[in-house]
This record gives sequence, structure tokens and C-alpha cells, in this order.
Amino acid sequence: MVYNAPAMIITKKKDFEEILFAIGDTRSLFLLGCGDCATLCKTGGEPELKEMSQKLVAKGIAVTGTAVVPAACHELDTKRVLRKHKDEVDKAQAVLALICGAGVQSVGDNTDKPAYSGCDSLFIGNSKRQLHYYEKCSACGECVLNDTAGLCPETRCPKSLLNGPCGGAVGGKCEVNSENLCVWIDIYNRLKKAGKLENLLLKISAPKDNSGLAKPQKLELKREPGR
Ligand code: SF4
Ligand code: SF4
Repeated sequence: MVYNAPAMIITKKKDFEEILFAIGDTRSLFLLGCGDCATLCKTGGEPELKEMSQKLVAKGIAVTGTAVVPAACHELDTKRVLRKHKDEVDKAQAVLALICGAGVQSVGDNTDKPAYSGCDSLFIGNSKRQLHYYEKCSACGECVLNDTAGLCPETRCPKSLLNGPCGGAVGGKCEVNSENLCVWIDIYNRLKKAGKLENLLLKISAPKDNSGLAKPQKLELKREPGR
């Protein structure tokens, strides 16, 4: 099998007791998963929907149906799947979505039923192999990779230091997380190899201007003729 997963939203399952507390006195649920990120993270694919159904039924909560949306952040996909399962959704008091936070809101914005979340969203993850995900970009809106030899100090340094190391590294390992190399040592080594060590002296990065990240953000592109 060819493994072909892109970067994605990494999720973990919420504690079942937390879900029960959130749904309160709801006695019937329709369950939705996502065929993309949540399936690959094993938080919201077919097996997880089945497992959740069994747990809910054991607590006396009816499951009126289940479905996996191809990609829940694609709102038209979500709307189409909810419409296809309209009878089962109508029979339920609410929808429980085993999906990232964006997907849960996609559900809530496309049904008049309350949408509950069964997952916690963690980070944008790069994948090297199945079930191994790594955070490399925090989508900060002001990318410094061109100054840092393609390594992100915003994300890969736990202190998000933009102008060099804290000095706490021990044997090259990060003082906060000794599983990882200090990213600033990596940056130094890559710049040295590329003959660009002067990059470290040329520019002092100002603190990030987060005003450009006022939430909620949006990007609406126009179609170009012929493309
Ligand atoms: S600096 Fe880091 S967090 Fe910001 S956009 Fe670039 S890679 Fe992402
Ligand atoms: S040791 Fe390096 S990666 Fe770790 S917090 Fe300090 S500067 Fe950041």
C-alpha cells in the first residue's frame, strides 16, 4: 500500500467521561467521523465510530446512525453527508463529531442539531510514516524560514526564540525537551554548511506582530480566467 498522507490536523480522543458530561441529558446521538485527518489519527474513522457507539449504547444512549465525511473541513462535503443521513440525524437530539475543532464547527454550521466534540485538536502535523506526526509549523503568519535555514524556531524551539538559543542546551539537546536537538544548533549547522552564517548577524527579528492574525482569519481567492 502506498502511504500518501499530507500534513494534517492532529487530534486525540477526548476522555469518554468528558464527552458524557458535555452531552448531559442527551439520550440519542448521530455520530460523524472524518475520512481524512481523524481517520489517519485513529480518532474518528469507522473503527472509532463503532467503538464510541458501543460505549454510548452501554450507557443507555441511542445511536441513530453513523457516517464518515470524506473531509469534514470541506463544508459542502459535511452538508452533503448530513443531508444523505437526514432521517437518522433528525431522530437524534444531537450530533457527536469525532473530528478536529474545524470539522466539529463545520457540522454545527450545517445542521440545526447541537454538535458535540469527541476530540481535542493538537497541531498541524507533518507525517513521515503512518501514525507518526511532527509539528513543524504553527501558522504564525510571518514566516522566518528564509532567515533560519528552513527550520522553524517559532515551532521547534519550545520558547519560540527568534534570535538565537537560550543557552540552556545540554550536549546539543533542548533544555526543555531533551528528546530533541536544540533547533538553534541545527539552524547554526545548516547555515554554516550553506556558507550563510552571516544570516545570524544580518537581521534581528522583531517580536511577531500578531495583529495580522486577528481571528477568525479568512482567505478568499478569486478564480483566474482559464485556470
Ligand atoms: S515561521 Fe514557523 S510557524 Fe511561522 S509560518 Fe514559518 S514555519 Fe510556520
Ligand atoms: S535549548 Fe534551544 S530549542 Fe530548547 S528552549 Fe533553548 S533555544 Fe529553544
